[in-house]
Formats: sequence, structure tokens, C-alpha cells
Amino acid sequence: MTATVRTRVAIIGAGPAGLLLSHLLASSGIESVIVDRRTREEIESTIRAGILEQGTVELLDTLGEFSRARTVGHRHDGIELRFAGEGHRIDFPALVGRSVWLYPQHEVLKDLLAARIDAGQDIRFGVTADRVDDPTSDRPLVHATDAGGQPLVVEADFVVGADGSRGVAREAVSGSRSSGYFREYPFAWFGILCEAPPSAPELIYSNSPDGFALISQRSATVQRMYFQCDPGEDPDRFSEAELWDALQKRVPGTTLTEGPIFQRDILRFRSFVAGSILNGRVALVGDAAHTVPPTGAKGMNLAIADVVVLARALEALLVDGDERLLEAFPETALGRIWKAQHFSWWMTSMLHVAPDASDFDRMRQLGELRSVVESEAGSTYLAEAYTGWPLV
Ligand SMILES: Cc1cc2nc3c(=O)[nH]c(=O)nc-3n(C[C@H](O)[C@H](O)[C@H](O)COP(=O)(O)OP(=O)(O)OC[C@H]3O[C@@H](n4cnc5c(N)ncnc54)[C@H](O)[C@@H]3O)c2cc1C
Repeated sequence: MTATVRTRVAIIGAGPAGLLLSHLLASSGIESVIVDRRTREEIESTIRAGILEQGTVELLDTLGEFSRARTVGHRHDGIELRFAGEGHRIDFPALVGRSVWLYPQHEVLKDLLAARIDAGQDIRFGVTADRVDDPTSDRPLVHATDAGGQPLVVEADFVVGADGSRGVAREAVSGSRSSGYFREYPFAWFGILCEAPPSAPELIYSNSPDGFALISQRSATVQRMYFQCDPGEDPDRFSEAELWDALQKRVPGTTLTEGPIFQRDILRFRSFVAGSILNGRVALVGDAAHTVPPTGAKGMNLAIADVVVLARALEALLVDGDERLLEAFPETALGRIWKAQHFSWWMTSMLHVAPDASDFDRMRQLGELRSVVESEAGSTYLAEAYTGWPLV
């Protein structure tokens, strides 16, 4: 027996993109159903992004009492670019009058889930979307399977694929899961979580002859740090002492506060933009539409920016019967997506050392870093992009 649910907007994925979309649609009086293959506990415990743009925090403020980004998170007014043994602070408020917040993605998800469940949102956990049918009709369908193996069909006026980089909605929009613009990088990040006090008050992005390192914070007692490694690296190959050595070598001129390492992982880098993000009555947002390397901290913020544009287009379509904003959705969203792709690629290539880098490449890279920190125009571009362009 196949169960069928009818709704206005079917959302695949209860990540930041899908949950925020349901919140914005609900504020316009549009009901939606979300399906996610994971359980609530799994969603709330996956450690991922950590930096929120100012516009993202302002949007989360609309969750009212449920948003804790400002109370539990930490405002950061700058980052340090470290190279040639010296640190250079990029002062965000002085350059662009904006800031970012350090607030982990799983905490954002806890806030969004609590707010949506409190508002009576229909969220089906443990339900896997198998495919999306009839994208160009006015009744697109999501075919799914619940945790007990029972089939479920969600029939909607519109379907949104917010199902991340390995989702199924891409097939209905761009014809395959992988067609689009793609770039792979010859390095990855070795990430650790450790129990220690912070080594620095703000994030340090360090370029060194041994490669890149990012010294980031989580809380007063837990820190997140990364160093550049080979994409095929085995995370268990290093002892804790070797990991601290690798990190310390890549931030010359600063002393890291060490502590027990309780998690280690390899984070591969990809730049991807789907060939199409809208087909009839099915759209893609967030990682389903694009992925960026993590150096610019753009992934989750970009997912949220897509959702703002799509929510307005869906309100115009489903409340006023006006298709114009939906027709403009790809062009409007892709304008920002490609700016963020460029910024993420630029930060990545400026700060990492490619395995085949020549002496010329290395010296040019230092020249590029100096051009950023010694020029107000250069620093302003970095500050503007890092803190986030205004949301439309
Ligand atoms: C280690 C790491 C660090 C990062 N750091 C940053 C950072 O500092 N700043 C930043 O902005 N970004 C960062 N990112 C990127 C950020 O986490 C993602 O861009 C963000 O999660 C995208 O949100 P999303 O809602 O589009 O997709 P996701 O968060 O991937 O959510 C997709 C959801 O869809 C569900 N799903 C998938 N397929 C199906 C299916 N077939 N049926 C039903 N449900 C399905 C999944 O279970 C998931 O819950 C980082 C990523 C990683 C991995």
C-alpha cells in the first residue's frame, strides 16, 4: 500500500536549507512537508559548518526565542591572515561595518528543528526520497520510502531539492546527479577536534611553506583545527604528538595550546555548480545545487541565501499566481553562487600550497597575500565577501 500526502511545497532534506525554507514559507502562509532520510538525533549531532554571516544570523533572529546564535554563539570581528611568520588582522567592522558569528551548524539545526516542530511543521524523519517525477507538470511527485520500507508519495504544487550534495533531486532538474561545472583540488583538510582552551581569540588562516592551517574555535573547552593534507591521507596514521607537530609547523610565530584529540577526519575539496537549478516545478537549493571548498566558510551561508531568493519566488507564485520571480530564480541565485564560488576558490588557492608549486608560484602567492593585507581595497574585498553580501 502506497500512502499519499498532498501539500503545497514538498521539501527533500531537513538540513539548514530545507528547514529554513519551511520557516520562511510558513511565515507567508504556505504549508509544506519535509522528508529526511536521517533521524532527528542524527541531524542534530553531525558536526559541520561553524561560521555564520551576519545576514544568516539576522535571518535566524526571526526564529524568536528559538535562535541562540547571538546568545550562545560568539561574534567575531575579524580573522588573522598569517604568512611569512607574521599575523595580519582583517578588521571586519572597520572595513565593512559587519561581523560573523561562530556558532556550529548542528546548533543552528537544533534551533530550526525546535522552532519548526513547535510550529507544527510536518517533518518526516527516516523517509528517503527515491526520485522526483513529473517536474514540468503542475503536480510534481516525490516518491519515497519510510524507515519501515513502506512507500510514500508526496504530491505537491512545487518540489524543492534541499537534499545535499548526494541527493536525488538533481536528476529531475539537470538530468543527472553530476552534470554541471566541477573542479577538484589536489589537497584536502585534516580536521581535528580537541579538548583545550582556544589558541587564539579569532580564526587564524595560515599559509606556510609546509601548507595551510586553520586554527578555529568551538567553545571555551573544545577547539577545531585543520591542516592541509593529501586527499588520500589515512586519518589514523598519525600519533597525537605528530598531529600537534603538523599543526604547529604550519602556524609559525604562534604557539598552539594542546589537548587530547577526540575526533579526526579528512575533508575533501570540491567546487561544483549544477548545470541547472530549476526545471518546471522543481528547484534545487544549498549543497544540492552547489558545493564550495570550505576555506571561505560559504557553504551553509550560501544555502541560506538561495532559500531567501526561492522563498520569495514561491510566495509570489503560490500566493499571487505570479511566475516572474520564479523565472528569475536561476539568474538571481546563480549571481551570488558564482561570486561565492570565486571567493572560495580564491581563498583556497591563495592560502594552500599546491603539490606541484614552483618557487615562482610560492613567491607570487606571498605577493598576493601582501596585496590583500597592505591594501585597504584588497582587505575590504575579503571582509565584504567573508561577512556576506547583502541578502536580496
Ligand atoms: C566539515 C565541514 C565543514 C564545513 N564548514 C563550513 C563553514 O564553516 N561555513 C559554511 O557556511 N559551510 C561549511 N560547510 C558546508 C555546510 O555544512 C553545507 O554547505 C550545508 O550543510 C549545506 O546545507 P544543505 O541544507 O544544503 O545540505 P545538508 O546540510 O547536506 O542537508 C541535506 C539533508 O538532506 C537529507 N537527504 C539527502 N538525501 C536525501 C534523500 N534522498 N531523501 C531524504 N533526505 C535526504 C540529508 O540527510 C540531510 O539532512 C562545511 C561542511 C563540512 C562537511
